[in-house]
Amino acid sequence: IDIKNIRNFSIIAHIDHGKSTLADRLIEKTGSLDKRQMKDQVLDNLEVERRHGITVKAQAVRMEYLYDGVLYELNMIDTPGHADFTYEVSKSLSACEGALLVVDATQGVEAQTVANLYLALENNLEIIPVINKIDLPTADIEKTKSEIENLGLDASGAILISAKNDIGTDKVLEAIIKYIPPPKINNEETLKALIIDSWYDNYKGVVCLVRVFEGEIKIHDRIMIFSNKKEYNVESISVLTPKPKEIETLHAGEVGILISNIKNIDDVLVGDTITLASNPAKAALKGFKKIKPFVYAGIYPTDTEKYDDLKEGLEKLKLNDSSLEFEPEKSDSLGFGFRCGFLGMLHMNITKERLEEEFGLDIVVTNPSVLYKVEKTDGSIIEISNPKDLPEPQFIRSILEPYVSIDVITPSEYIGSVLNLLQEKRGYQKNLSYLSANRCLITYSAPLSETITNFYDTLKSITRGYASFNYEFEGYKPSDLVKMIILINNEPIDSFSQIVHKDKAYAQAREVLAKLKEFVPRQLFEIRLQAKVGGKIIAKEEIKALRKDVLAKCYGGDITRKRKLLEKQKEGKKKLKQLGKVAISKEAFMKLLEPT
Ligand code: GDP
Ligand code: MG
Repeated sequence: IDIKNIRNFSIIAHIDHGKSTLADRLIEKTGSLDKRQMKDQVLDNLEVERRHGITVKAQAVRMEYLYDGVLYELNMIDTPGHADFTYEVSKSLSACEGALLVVDATQGVEAQTVANLYLALENNLEIIPVINKIDLPTADIEKTKSEIENLGLDASGAILISAKNDIGTDKVLEAIIKYIPPPKINNEETLKALIIDSWYDNYKGVVCLVRVFEGEIKIHDRIMIFSNKKEYNVESISVLTPKPKEIETLHAGEVGILISNIKNIDDVLVGDTITLASNPAKAALKGFKKIKPFVYAGIYPTDTEKYDDLKEGLEKLKLNDSSLEFEPEKSDSLGFGFRCGFLGMLHMNITKERLEEEFGLDIVVTNPSVLYKVEKTDGSIIEISNPKDLPEPQFIRSILEPYVSIDVITPSEYIGSVLNLLQEKRGYQKNLSYLSANRCLITYSAPLSETITNFYDTLKSITRGYASFNYEFEGYKPSDLVKMIILINNEPIDSFSQIVHKDKAYAQAREVLAKLKEFVPRQLFEIRLQAKVGGKIIAKEEIKALRKDVLAKCYGGDITRKRKLLEKQKEGKKKLKQLGKVAISKEAFMKLLEPT
Protein backbone atom coordinates (compact mmCIF):
# COMPACT_ATOMS: atom_id res chain seq x y z
CA ILE A 1 0.00 0.00 0.00
CA ASP A 2 1.18 3.53 -0.76
CA ILE A 3 2.66 5.26 2.29
CA LYS A 4 0.41 8.27 1.80
CA ASN A 5 -2.60 6.03 2.42
CA ILE A 6 -1.41 4.86 5.84
CA ARG A 7 -2.73 6.40 9.06
CA ASN A 8 -1.42 5.52 12.52
CA PHE A 9 -3.55 6.75 15.39
CA SER A 10 -4.43 6.20 18.99
CA ILE A 11 -7.59 6.79 20.99
CA ILE A 12 -6.97 8.64 24.22
CA ALA A 13 -9.58 9.19 26.90
CA HIS A 14 -10.29 9.23 30.59
CA ILE A 15 -11.51 5.86 31.84
CA ASP A 16 -15.14 5.06 30.92
CA HIS A 17 -15.41 7.89 28.39
CA GLY A 18 -15.90 5.33 25.61
CA LYS A 19 -12.53 4.44 24.13
CA SER A 20 -13.24 0.71 23.81
CA THR A 21 -16.75 1.27 22.48
CA LEU A 22 -15.48 3.63 19.78
CA ALA A 23 -12.70 1.17 18.88
CA ASP A 24 -15.38 -1.52 18.41
CA ARG A 25 -17.37 0.73 16.07
CA LEU A 26 -14.29 1.49 13.97
CA ILE A 27 -13.42 -2.19 13.67
CA GLU A 28 -17.02 -2.94 12.73
CA LYS A 29 -17.23 -0.11 10.16
CA THR A 30 -14.05 -1.09 8.42
CA GLY A 31 -15.38 -4.62 8.05
CA SER A 32 -12.40 -6.03 9.84
CA LEU A 33 -14.65 -8.56 11.51
CA ASP A 34 -18.03 -9.76 10.29
CA LYS A 35 -21.12 -9.38 12.44
CA ARG A 36 -20.87 -12.95 13.70
CA GLN A 37 -17.34 -12.46 15.01
CA MET A 38 -18.07 -9.06 16.48
CA LYS A 39 -18.46 -9.08 20.20
CA ASP A 40 -18.20 -6.16 22.57
CA GLN A 41 -14.81 -4.63 23.31
CA VAL A 42 -12.84 -6.54 20.70
CA LEU A 43 -9.63 -4.80 21.62
CA ASP A 44 -9.98 -5.59 25.30
CA ASN A 45 -10.77 -9.17 24.50
CA LEU A 46 -7.89 -9.98 22.22
CA GLU A 47 -6.56 -13.34 23.23
CA VAL A 48 -3.13 -12.08 24.22
CA GLU A 49 -4.53 -9.39 26.41
CA ARG A 50 -6.71 -11.85 28.23
CA ARG A 51 -3.82 -14.20 28.83
CA HIS A 52 -1.36 -11.62 30.02
CA GLY A 53 -3.59 -9.24 31.89
CA ILE A 54 -2.13 -5.84 32.45
CA THR A 55 1.37 -6.75 31.28
CA VAL A 56 0.36 -6.43 27.64
CA LYS A 57 0.13 -2.69 27.69
CA ALA A 58 -0.18 -1.85 24.03
CA GLN A 59 -1.96 -3.55 21.18
CA ALA A 60 -2.50 -2.58 17.55
CA VAL A 61 -5.19 -3.41 15.05
CA ARG A 62 -4.79 -2.97 11.30
CA MET A 63 -7.96 -2.00 9.45
CA GLU A 64 -8.64 -1.33 5.80
CA TYR A 65 -11.06 1.36 4.76
CA LEU A 66 -12.25 2.45 1.37
CA TYR A 67 -12.80 6.20 1.26
CA ASP A 68 -13.57 8.13 -1.92
CA GLY A 69 -12.46 5.19 -4.02
CA VAL A 70 -9.07 4.96 -2.29
CA LEU A 71 -8.05 2.12 0.03
CA TYR A 72 -6.48 3.23 3.31
CA GLU A 73 -4.59 1.24 5.92
CA LEU A 74 -5.53 2.40 9.41
CA ASN A 75 -3.41 1.25 12.33
CA MET A 76 -5.13 1.78 15.65
CA ILE A 77 -2.71 1.58 18.58
CA ASP A 78 -4.32 1.04 21.94
CA THR A 79 -2.76 1.87 25.31
CA PRO A 80 -4.05 1.51 28.87
CA GLY A 81 -3.54 5.06 30.08
CA HIS A 82 -2.92 4.60 33.79
CA ALA A 83 -0.55 6.94 35.59
CA ASP A 84 1.76 4.05 36.56
CA PHE A 85 2.54 3.44 32.88
CA THR A 86 3.16 6.96 31.58
CA TYR A 87 6.39 6.01 29.85
CA GLU A 88 4.76 3.14 27.94
CA VAL A 89 1.79 5.30 26.96
CA SER A 90 4.12 7.98 25.71
CA LYS A 91 6.05 5.44 23.61
CA SER A 92 2.84 4.07 22.05
CA LEU A 93 1.77 7.59 21.21
CA SER A 94 5.12 8.28 19.61
CA ALA A 95 4.34 5.44 17.18
CA CYS A 96 1.35 7.45 15.88
CA GLU A 97 0.86 10.58 13.81
CA GLY A 98 -2.46 11.46 15.39
CA ALA A 99 -4.87 10.81 18.23
CA LEU A 100 -8.60 10.90 18.81
CA LEU A 101 -9.22 12.67 22.10
CA VAL A 102 -12.51 11.22 23.35
CA VAL A 103 -14.39 13.18 26.01
CA ASP A 104 -17.65 12.03 27.59
CA ALA A 105 -20.19 14.85 27.13
CA THR A 106 -21.87 14.01 30.42
CA GLN A 107 -18.62 14.24 32.39
CA GLY A 108 -16.41 16.70 30.58
CA VAL A 109 -12.66 16.87 30.75
CA GLU A 110 -11.07 14.69 33.47
CA ALA A 111 -7.53 14.27 34.82
CA GLN A 112 -6.64 11.45 32.43
CA THR A 113 -7.95 13.49 29.50
CA VAL A 114 -5.47 16.22 30.38
CA ALA A 115 -2.56 13.86 31.05
CA ASN A 116 -3.06 11.95 27.80
CA LEU A 117 -3.55 15.13 25.79
CA TYR A 118 -0.24 16.51 27.07
CA LEU A 119 1.57 13.26 26.24
CA ALA A 120 0.10 13.40 22.73
CA LEU A 121 1.16 17.04 22.30
CA GLU A 122 4.69 16.21 23.52
CA ASN A 123 4.83 13.64 20.75
CA ASN A 124 3.66 16.20 18.15
CA LEU A 125 0.47 14.35 17.31
CA GLU A 126 -2.42 15.82 15.35
CA ILE A 127 -5.33 15.78 17.79
CA ILE A 128 -8.94 15.31 16.83
CA PRO A 129 -11.39 16.13 19.63
CA VAL A 130 -14.33 13.71 19.75
CA ILE A 131 -17.27 14.34 22.05
CA ASN A 132 -19.00 11.08 22.97
CA LYS A 133 -22.30 9.99 24.56
CA ILE A 134 -24.34 12.75 22.93
CA ASP A 135 -27.32 10.37 23.07
CA LEU A 136 -27.61 10.86 26.84
CA PRO A 137 -30.02 13.52 28.15
CA THR A 138 -27.36 14.91 30.50
CA ALA A 139 -24.87 15.46 27.65
CA ASP A 140 -23.62 19.06 27.66
CA ILE A 141 -21.85 19.56 24.36
CA GLU A 142 -21.17 23.28 24.69
CA LYS A 143 -19.67 22.96 28.15
CA THR A 144 -17.52 20.02 27.07
CA LYS A 145 -16.30 22.03 24.08
CA SER A 146 -15.34 24.98 26.23
CA GLU A 147 -13.53 22.73 28.69
CA ILE A 148 -11.49 21.30 25.82
CA GLU A 149 -10.79 24.84 24.58
CA ASN A 150 -9.57 25.77 28.05
CA LEU A 151 -6.88 23.12 27.64
CA GLY A 152 -5.64 25.09 24.67
CA LEU A 153 -7.16 22.97 21.93
CA ASP A 154 -9.49 24.19 19.20
CA ALA A 155 -12.77 22.34 19.76
CA SER A 156 -14.91 24.16 17.20
CA GLY A 157 -14.59 21.23 14.82
CA ALA A 158 -15.02 18.53 17.50
CA ILE A 159 -16.83 15.46 16.17
CA LEU A 160 -20.06 14.74 18.01
CA ILE A 161 -20.77 11.06 18.41
CA SER A 162 -22.54 8.31 20.26
CA ALA A 163 -20.15 5.39 20.05
CA LYS A 164 -22.76 3.16 21.62
CA ASN A 165 -25.53 4.03 19.16
CA ASP A 166 -23.20 4.39 16.20
CA ILE A 167 -23.93 8.04 15.56
CA GLY A 168 -21.20 10.15 13.95
CA THR A 169 -18.64 7.36 13.74
CA ASP A 170 -18.32 7.67 9.93
CA LYS A 171 -17.18 11.23 10.52
CA VAL A 172 -14.48 9.90 12.83
CA LEU A 173 -13.07 7.69 10.05
CA GLU A 174 -13.26 10.60 7.63
CA ALA A 175 -11.38 12.87 10.06
CA ILE A 176 -8.66 10.24 10.58
CA ILE A 177 -8.08 10.16 6.84
CA LYS A 178 -8.36 13.92 6.28
CA TYR A 179 -6.55 15.37 9.27
CA ILE A 180 -4.02 12.83 10.48
CA PRO A 181 -0.91 13.03 8.32
CA PRO A 182 0.57 9.90 6.74
CA PRO A 183 3.91 8.69 8.19
CA LYS A 184 6.93 10.68 7.06
CA ILE A 185 9.78 8.48 5.92
CA ASN A 186 13.16 8.75 4.37
CA ASN A 187 13.58 5.95 1.84
CA GLU A 188 17.36 6.10 1.93
CA GLU A 189 17.59 4.97 5.53
CA THR A 190 18.29 1.56 6.98
CA LEU A 191 15.87 -0.13 9.38
CA LYS A 192 14.79 1.75 12.49
CA ALA A 193 11.84 0.26 14.34
CA LEU A 194 10.50 1.32 17.72
CA ILE A 195 9.60 -1.31 20.34
CA ILE A 196 6.13 -0.20 21.45
CA ASP A 197 5.64 -3.14 23.81
CA SER A 198 7.00 -6.62 24.42
CA TRP A 199 5.57 -9.56 26.29
CA TYR A 200 6.26 -13.18 26.98
CA ASP A 201 4.13 -15.83 25.31
CA ASN A 202 4.37 -19.39 26.62
CA TYR A 203 4.31 -20.82 23.11
CA LYS A 204 6.13 -18.25 21.01
CA GLY A 205 8.64 -16.79 23.46
CA VAL A 206 9.06 -13.04 23.55
CA VAL A 207 6.78 -11.10 21.22
CA CYS A 208 7.43 -7.47 20.20
CA LEU A 209 4.95 -4.93 18.94
CA VAL A 210 6.92 -2.53 16.73
CA ARG A 211 6.50 0.55 14.59
CA VAL A 212 8.85 0.81 11.63
CA PHE A 213 10.11 4.38 11.16
CA GLU A 214 12.71 3.82 8.46
CA GLY A 215 13.56 0.91 6.15
CA GLU A 216 11.68 -2.37 6.41
CA ILE A 217 11.68 -5.71 8.24
CA LYS A 218 11.36 -8.93 6.26
CA ILE A 219 10.87 -12.43 7.52
CA HIS A 220 14.28 -14.17 8.10
CA ASP A 221 16.09 -10.82 8.42
CA ARG A 222 18.82 -10.71 11.03
CA ILE A 223 17.93 -7.88 13.39
CA MET A 224 19.88 -6.18 16.13
CA ILE A 225 18.62 -4.47 19.29
CA PHE A 226 20.30 -1.08 19.42
CA SER A 227 21.03 -0.69 23.15
CA ASN A 228 22.51 -4.15 23.82
CA LYS A 229 23.65 -5.20 20.31
CA LYS A 230 21.94 -8.59 20.63
CA GLU A 231 21.02 -10.25 17.33
CA TYR A 232 18.06 -12.40 16.34
CA ASN A 233 16.46 -13.91 13.24
CA VAL A 234 12.96 -12.75 12.41
CA GLU A 235 10.85 -15.89 12.48
CA SER A 236 7.46 -14.41 11.86
CA ILE A 237 5.75 -11.10 11.30
CA SER A 238 2.05 -10.62 11.85
CA VAL A 239 -0.65 -8.03 12.20
CA LEU A 240 -3.95 -8.18 14.04
CA THR A 241 -6.91 -7.46 11.79
CA PRO A 242 -7.96 -8.09 14.68
CA LYS A 243 -7.59 -11.77 13.75
CA PRO A 244 -3.86 -12.55 13.64
CA LYS A 245 -2.58 -12.57 10.06
CA GLU A 246 0.94 -13.57 9.01
CA ILE A 247 2.72 -11.23 6.60
CA GLU A 248 6.15 -11.19 4.89
CA THR A 249 7.27 -7.59 5.29
CA LEU A 250 6.65 -4.64 7.54
CA HIS A 251 7.31 -1.39 5.67
CA ALA A 252 8.29 2.02 6.93
CA GLY A 253 5.29 3.65 8.55
CA GLU A 254 3.67 0.35 9.55
CA VAL A 255 2.98 -1.39 12.84
CA GLY A 256 3.16 -5.13 13.46
CA ILE A 257 4.25 -7.98 15.69
CA LEU A 258 7.64 -9.70 15.51
CA ILE A 259 8.61 -13.12 16.79
CA SER A 260 12.35 -13.73 16.77
CA ASN A 261 13.25 -16.43 19.27
CA ILE A 262 13.95 -13.87 21.98
CA LYS A 263 14.18 -15.48 25.41
CA ASN A 264 14.24 -12.57 27.79
CA ILE A 265 11.99 -9.50 27.69
CA ASP A 266 14.68 -7.45 29.38
CA ASP A 267 16.52 -7.62 26.05
CA VAL A 268 13.70 -5.86 24.18
CA LEU A 269 12.54 -3.03 26.41
CA VAL A 270 9.85 -0.55 25.43
CA GLY A 271 11.36 2.42 23.61
CA ASP A 272 14.45 0.63 22.30
CA THR A 273 15.29 0.57 18.58
CA ILE A 274 15.48 -2.47 16.32
CA THR A 275 17.83 -2.24 13.36
CA LEU A 276 19.50 -4.61 10.87
CA ALA A 277 22.57 -6.56 12.03
CA SER A 278 24.18 -6.33 8.58
CA ASN A 279 23.53 -2.61 8.17
CA PRO A 280 22.87 -1.05 11.56
CA ALA A 281 21.45 2.45 11.99
CA LYS A 282 23.93 5.05 13.20
CA ALA A 283 21.64 6.47 15.85
CA ALA A 284 18.75 5.10 17.85
CA LEU A 285 15.25 6.56 17.88
CA LYS A 286 15.02 9.28 20.53
CA GLY A 287 13.84 8.90 24.09
CA PHE A 288 14.76 5.37 25.14
CA LYS A 289 15.25 4.88 28.86
CA LYS A 290 15.14 1.98 31.23
CA ILE A 291 12.41 2.85 33.68
CA LYS A 292 13.10 2.30 37.32
CA PRO A 293 10.59 1.37 40.01
CA PHE A 294 9.22 4.20 42.12
CA VAL A 295 7.57 2.22 44.92
CA TYR A 296 9.09 -0.56 47.01
CA ALA A 297 7.61 -3.03 49.48
CA GLY A 298 8.59 -6.30 51.13
CA ILE A 299 6.68 -9.41 50.11
CA TYR A 300 6.83 -12.36 52.51
CA PRO A 301 5.15 -15.75 52.53
CA THR A 302 2.81 -16.12 55.51
CA ASP A 303 4.13 -19.61 55.92
CA THR A 304 7.93 -19.40 56.05
CA GLU A 305 8.22 -22.76 54.28
CA LYS A 306 6.70 -21.24 51.12
CA TYR A 307 9.72 -19.04 50.40
CA ASP A 308 10.71 -21.07 47.32
CA ASP A 309 7.17 -20.97 45.96
CA LEU A 310 7.14 -17.20 46.32
CA LYS A 311 10.50 -16.97 44.56
CA GLU A 312 9.17 -19.08 41.69
CA GLY A 313 6.03 -16.95 41.44
CA LEU A 314 8.01 -13.72 41.25
CA GLU A 315 10.35 -15.21 38.65
CA LYS A 316 7.38 -16.25 36.50
CA LEU A 317 5.80 -12.79 36.73
CA LYS A 318 9.15 -11.20 35.92
CA LEU A 319 9.30 -13.19 32.68
CA ASN A 320 6.57 -10.95 31.43
CA ASP A 321 7.14 -7.79 33.40
CA SER A 322 10.47 -6.05 32.92
CA SER A 323 9.58 -3.27 35.36
CA LEU A 324 9.12 -5.65 38.29
CA GLU A 325 12.24 -5.89 40.47
CA PHE A 326 12.93 -8.12 43.46
CA GLU A 327 15.77 -9.26 45.65
CA PRO A 328 15.93 -11.45 48.77
CA GLU A 329 15.44 -9.73 52.09
CA LYS A 330 15.24 -10.86 55.70
CA SER A 331 13.02 -9.38 58.34
CA ASP A 332 13.18 -10.17 62.08
CA SER A 333 9.42 -10.44 62.32
CA LEU A 334 8.61 -11.95 58.91
CA GLY A 335 11.56 -14.18 58.11
CA PHE A 336 12.81 -14.56 54.54
CA GLY A 337 11.09 -12.76 51.69
CA PHE A 338 11.74 -10.26 48.92
CA ARG A 339 12.15 -6.55 48.55
CA CYS A 340 10.15 -5.72 45.42
CA GLY A 341 10.12 -2.61 43.23
CA PHE A 342 7.04 -1.42 41.33
CA LEU A 343 6.15 1.42 38.97
CA GLY A 344 3.35 2.54 41.27
CA MET A 345 0.56 1.38 43.53
CA LEU A 346 -1.54 -0.14 40.75
CA HIS A 347 1.44 -2.17 39.62
CA MET A 348 2.03 -3.29 43.22
CA ASN A 349 -1.57 -4.32 43.77
CA ILE A 350 -1.76 -6.23 40.50
CA THR A 351 1.43 -8.11 41.38
CA LYS A 352 0.06 -8.98 44.82
CA GLU A 353 -3.23 -10.21 43.37
CA ARG A 354 -1.50 -12.31 40.74
CA LEU A 355 0.77 -13.96 43.31
CA GLU A 356 -2.31 -14.84 45.34
CA GLU A 357 -4.59 -15.88 42.52
CA GLU A 358 -2.33 -17.40 39.87
CA PHE A 359 0.16 -18.98 42.26
CA GLY A 360 -2.11 -19.64 45.22
CA LEU A 361 0.28 -17.92 47.61
CA ASP A 362 -0.62 -16.56 50.99
CA ILE A 363 1.54 -13.44 51.35
CA VAL A 364 2.15 -10.41 53.51
CA VAL A 365 3.02 -7.11 51.83
CA THR A 366 4.76 -4.55 54.04
CA ASN A 367 4.14 -0.80 54.04
CA PRO A 368 5.14 0.57 50.63
CA SER A 369 8.01 3.03 50.52
CA VAL A 370 9.55 5.26 47.87
CA LEU A 371 13.22 5.27 46.85
CA TYR A 372 15.18 7.84 48.86
CA LYS A 373 18.56 9.27 47.97
CA VAL A 374 20.79 9.78 50.96
CA GLU A 375 23.76 12.10 50.74
CA LYS A 376 26.27 10.99 53.36
CA THR A 377 28.76 13.13 55.21
CA ASP A 378 31.58 11.46 53.27
CA GLY A 379 30.04 12.82 50.07
CA SER A 380 28.72 9.52 48.74
CA ILE A 381 25.09 9.08 47.72
CA ILE A 382 23.17 5.89 48.43
CA GLU A 383 19.66 4.88 47.36
CA ILE A 384 17.46 3.21 49.93
CA SER A 385 13.85 2.11 50.13
CA ASN A 386 13.97 0.16 53.37
CA PRO A 387 14.06 2.27 56.56
CA LYS A 388 16.46 -0.23 58.10
CA ASP A 389 19.11 0.72 55.51
CA LEU A 390 19.07 4.38 56.54
CA PRO A 391 22.48 5.32 58.02
CA GLU A 392 22.71 6.74 61.56
CA PRO A 393 21.82 10.47 61.64
CA GLN A 394 25.41 11.58 62.26
CA PHE A 395 26.42 10.15 58.85
CA ILE A 396 23.65 11.87 56.90
CA ARG A 397 24.12 15.23 55.23
CA SER A 398 20.71 15.27 53.53
CA ILE A 399 17.89 13.01 52.41
CA LEU A 400 16.18 13.56 49.08
CA GLU A 401 12.79 12.17 48.17
CA PRO A 402 10.91 11.86 44.86
CA TYR A 403 8.30 14.52 44.08
CA VAL A 404 5.38 14.17 41.70
CA SER A 405 3.33 16.73 39.88
CA ILE A 406 -0.34 16.07 40.62
CA ASP A 407 -3.26 17.26 38.50
CA VAL A 408 -6.64 17.18 40.20
CA ILE A 409 -9.86 18.07 38.43
CA THR A 410 -12.72 18.82 40.78
CA PRO A 411 -16.07 20.59 40.90
CA SER A 412 -15.29 24.04 42.30
CA GLU A 413 -17.38 23.55 45.44
CA TYR A 414 -14.69 21.15 46.71
CA ILE A 415 -11.67 23.35 45.95
CA GLY A 416 -11.20 24.21 49.62
CA SER A 417 -11.14 20.60 50.82
CA VAL A 418 -8.89 19.48 47.96
CA LEU A 419 -6.38 22.26 48.65
CA ASN A 420 -6.43 21.31 52.33
CA LEU A 421 -5.74 17.69 51.50
CA LEU A 422 -2.87 18.61 49.19
CA GLN A 423 -1.45 20.94 51.82
CA GLU A 424 -1.65 18.17 54.40
CA LYS A 425 0.29 15.97 51.98
CA ARG A 426 3.16 18.47 52.10
CA GLY A 427 2.34 19.76 48.64
CA TYR A 428 2.69 23.22 47.19
CA GLN A 429 0.43 24.75 44.62
CA LYS A 430 1.72 25.30 41.11
CA ASN A 431 -1.44 26.29 39.34
CA LEU A 432 -5.20 26.59 39.64
CA SER A 433 -7.41 27.28 36.66
CA TYR A 434 -11.07 27.04 35.80
CA LEU A 435 -12.07 24.68 33.00
CA SER A 436 -15.63 25.93 33.18
CA ALA A 437 -17.71 27.96 35.62
CA ASN A 438 -17.93 25.11 38.11
CA ARG A 439 -14.92 22.88 37.49
CA CYS A 440 -11.26 23.53 38.00
CA LEU A 441 -7.85 22.03 37.43
CA ILE A 442 -5.46 22.17 40.37
CA THR A 443 -1.77 21.40 39.88
CA TYR A 444 0.37 20.66 42.90
CA SER A 445 3.84 19.41 43.53
CA ALA A 446 4.04 16.91 46.40
CA PRO A 447 6.24 14.11 47.73
CA LEU A 448 5.40 10.78 46.10
CA SER A 449 5.49 9.11 49.51
CA GLU A 450 2.46 11.17 50.59
CA THR A 451 0.37 10.11 47.62
CA ILE A 452 0.94 6.36 47.69
CA THR A 453 -1.01 5.70 50.85
CA ASN A 454 -4.74 6.39 50.73
CA PHE A 455 -4.47 9.70 48.88
CA TYR A 456 -6.86 8.55 46.17
CA ASP A 457 -9.50 7.24 48.60
CA THR A 458 -9.43 10.45 50.61
CA LEU A 459 -9.64 12.60 47.48
CA LYS A 460 -12.63 10.60 46.26
CA SER A 461 -14.42 10.77 49.57
CA ILE A 462 -13.98 14.52 50.11
CA THR A 463 -15.29 15.23 46.60
CA ARG A 464 -18.09 12.65 46.71
CA GLY A 465 -16.35 10.75 43.96
CA TYR A 466 -16.29 13.68 41.52
CA ALA A 467 -12.57 14.45 41.46
CA SER A 468 -10.12 12.71 39.18
CA PHE A 469 -6.37 12.84 39.49
CA ASN A 470 -3.19 12.00 37.69
CA TYR A 471 0.46 12.24 38.68
CA GLU A 472 3.79 12.43 36.95
CA PHE A 473 7.30 12.02 38.34
CA GLU A 474 8.99 15.38 38.76
CA GLY A 475 12.38 14.90 40.39
CA TYR A 476 14.21 14.57 43.72
CA LYS A 477 14.16 17.27 46.39
CA PRO A 478 15.68 17.41 49.88
CA SER A 479 13.28 16.99 52.82
CA ASP A 480 13.53 16.96 56.60
CA LEU A 481 13.10 13.22 56.98
CA VAL A 482 13.73 11.02 59.99
CA LYS A 483 13.54 7.36 60.83
CA MET A 484 10.84 6.39 63.27
CA ILE A 485 11.41 3.11 65.11
CA ILE A 486 8.70 1.18 66.92
CA LEU A 487 9.70 -0.86 69.96
CA ILE A 488 7.79 -3.55 71.79
CA ASN A 489 9.19 -4.07 75.27
CA ASN A 490 12.37 -2.30 74.16
CA GLU A 491 12.87 -4.50 71.11
CA PRO A 492 12.74 -2.67 67.76
CA ILE A 493 10.28 -4.26 65.31
CA ASP A 494 11.79 -3.76 61.87
CA SER A 495 8.65 -4.12 59.76
CA PHE A 496 7.11 -1.11 61.53
CA SER A 497 10.04 1.26 61.05
CA GLN A 498 9.21 4.16 58.77
CA ILE A 499 10.88 7.11 57.17
CA VAL A 500 8.65 10.10 57.94
CA HIS A 501 8.77 13.85 57.72
CA LYS A 502 9.99 15.43 60.98
CA ASP A 503 6.80 17.44 61.43
CA LYS A 504 4.64 14.37 60.95
CA ALA A 505 6.58 11.94 63.12
CA TYR A 506 4.56 12.52 66.27
CA ALA A 507 1.13 12.11 64.65
CA GLN A 508 2.32 9.07 62.74
CA ALA A 509 3.76 7.54 65.90
CA ARG A 510 0.47 8.01 67.78
CA GLU A 511 -1.40 6.33 64.97
CA VAL A 512 0.87 3.30 64.79
CA LEU A 513 0.86 2.83 68.55
CA ALA A 514 -2.93 3.14 68.71
CA LYS A 515 -3.21 0.45 66.09
CA LEU A 516 -0.78 -1.83 67.92
CA LYS A 517 -2.78 -1.32 71.09
CA GLU A 518 -5.92 -2.34 69.26
CA PHE A 519 -4.57 -5.43 67.53
CA VAL A 520 -1.91 -6.90 69.79
CA PRO A 521 -3.65 -9.30 72.17
CA ARG A 522 -3.04 -8.96 75.89
CA GLN A 523 -0.37 -11.28 77.27
CA LEU A 524 0.61 -12.63 80.66
CA PHE A 525 3.06 -9.76 80.91
CA GLU A 526 2.70 -6.04 80.41
CA ILE A 527 3.59 -4.79 76.95
CA ARG A 528 5.27 -1.43 76.51
CA LEU A 529 4.93 0.19 73.09
CA GLN A 530 7.26 3.01 72.15
CA ALA A 531 8.07 5.13 69.12
CA LYS A 532 11.56 6.57 68.87
CA VAL A 533 13.13 9.17 66.60
CA GLY A 534 16.86 9.84 66.76
CA GLY A 535 17.22 8.09 70.12
CA LYS A 536 14.34 10.02 71.71
CA ILE A 537 11.04 8.47 72.69
CA ILE A 538 8.30 10.56 71.09
CA ALA A 539 5.26 8.48 72.03
CA LYS A 540 4.37 5.54 74.23
CA GLU A 541 1.50 3.24 75.13
CA GLU A 542 1.03 0.14 77.21
CA ILE A 543 -1.04 -2.98 77.05
CA LYS A 544 -1.91 -4.27 80.50
CA ALA A 545 -1.10 -7.85 81.46
CA LEU A 546 -3.80 -10.52 81.59
CA ARG A 547 -4.68 -11.66 85.08
CA LYS A 548 -3.02 -15.00 85.87
CA ASP A 549 -6.20 -16.79 86.92
CA VAL A 550 -7.54 -16.69 83.36
CA LEU A 551 -5.10 -19.48 82.56
CA ALA A 552 -5.82 -21.49 85.67
CA LYS A 553 -8.69 -23.20 83.86
CA CYS A 554 -6.24 -24.91 81.53
CA TYR A 555 -4.47 -26.84 84.24
CA GLY A 556 -5.66 -30.24 85.37
CA GLY A 557 -8.10 -32.32 83.33
CA ASP A 558 -7.31 -35.55 81.51
CA ILE A 559 -4.16 -36.13 79.52
CA THR A 560 -5.70 -36.58 76.02
CA ARG A 561 -7.46 -33.28 76.24
CA LYS A 562 -4.20 -31.60 77.16
CA ARG A 563 -2.38 -33.23 74.27
CA LYS A 564 -5.05 -32.11 71.86
CA LEU A 565 -4.70 -28.60 73.16
CA LEU A 566 -0.97 -28.76 72.71
CA GLU A 567 -1.25 -29.98 69.14
CA LYS A 568 -3.73 -27.29 68.34
CA GLN A 569 -1.38 -24.76 69.79
CA LYS A 570 1.49 -26.05 67.68
CA GLU A 571 -0.55 -25.73 64.53
CA GLY A 572 -1.62 -22.26 65.49
CA LYS A 573 1.96 -21.22 66.15
CA LYS A 574 2.98 -21.68 62.54
CA LYS A 575 0.58 -18.96 61.50
CA LEU A 576 1.66 -16.57 64.21
CA LYS A 577 4.02 -13.72 63.59
CA GLN A 578 6.58 -12.89 66.21
CA LEU A 579 6.82 -9.29 67.37
CA GLY A 580 9.70 -9.52 69.80
CA LYS A 581 8.37 -11.72 72.59
CA VAL A 582 4.80 -11.21 71.50
CA ALA A 583 3.17 -13.58 69.01
CA ILE A 584 0.20 -12.32 67.04
CA SER A 585 -2.04 -13.84 64.40
CA LYS A 586 -1.46 -13.24 60.71
CA GLU A 587 -4.75 -11.34 60.47
CA ALA A 588 -3.77 -8.93 63.21
CA PHE A 589 -0.37 -8.52 61.64
CA MET A 590 -1.89 -7.63 58.27
CA LYS A 591 -4.07 -5.03 59.95
CA LEU A 592 -0.98 -3.53 61.52
CA LEU A 593 0.79 -3.29 58.19
CA GLU A 594 -2.09 -1.53 56.48
CA PRO A 595 -0.93 1.99 55.73
CA THR A 596 -1.87 4.57 58.33
P1 GDP B 1 -13.36 3.09 28.11
O1 GDP B 1 -13.04 2.89 29.56
O2 GDP B 1 -12.98 4.48 27.67
O3 GDP B 1 -12.83 2.03 27.20
O4 GDP B 1 -14.97 3.11 28.03
P2 GDP B 1 -15.95 2.02 27.43
O5 GDP B 1 -15.93 2.00 25.94
O6 GDP B 1 -15.73 0.73 28.11
O7 GDP B 1 -17.34 2.67 27.86
C1 GDP B 1 -17.69 2.90 29.21
C2 GDP B 1 -19.18 2.81 29.37
O8 GDP B 1 -19.81 3.85 28.63
C3 GDP B 1 -19.76 1.50 28.84
O9 GDP B 1 -20.78 1.09 29.70
C4 GDP B 1 -20.28 1.88 27.47
O10 GDP B 1 -21.37 1.07 27.07
C5 GDP B 1 -20.76 3.31 27.71
N1 GDP B 1 -20.74 4.10 26.48
C6 GDP B 1 -19.72 4.22 25.59
N2 GDP B 1 -20.07 5.04 24.59
C7 GDP B 1 -21.35 5.45 24.85
C8 GDP B 1 -22.27 6.31 24.18
O11 GDP B 1 -22.01 6.87 23.11
N3 GDP B 1 -23.48 6.49 24.76
C9 GDP B 1 -23.81 5.88 25.94
N4 GDP B 1 -25.02 6.11 26.42
N5 GDP B 1 -22.98 5.07 26.59
C10 GDP B 1 -21.76 4.86 26.05
MG1 MG C 1 -11.64 0.36 27.68
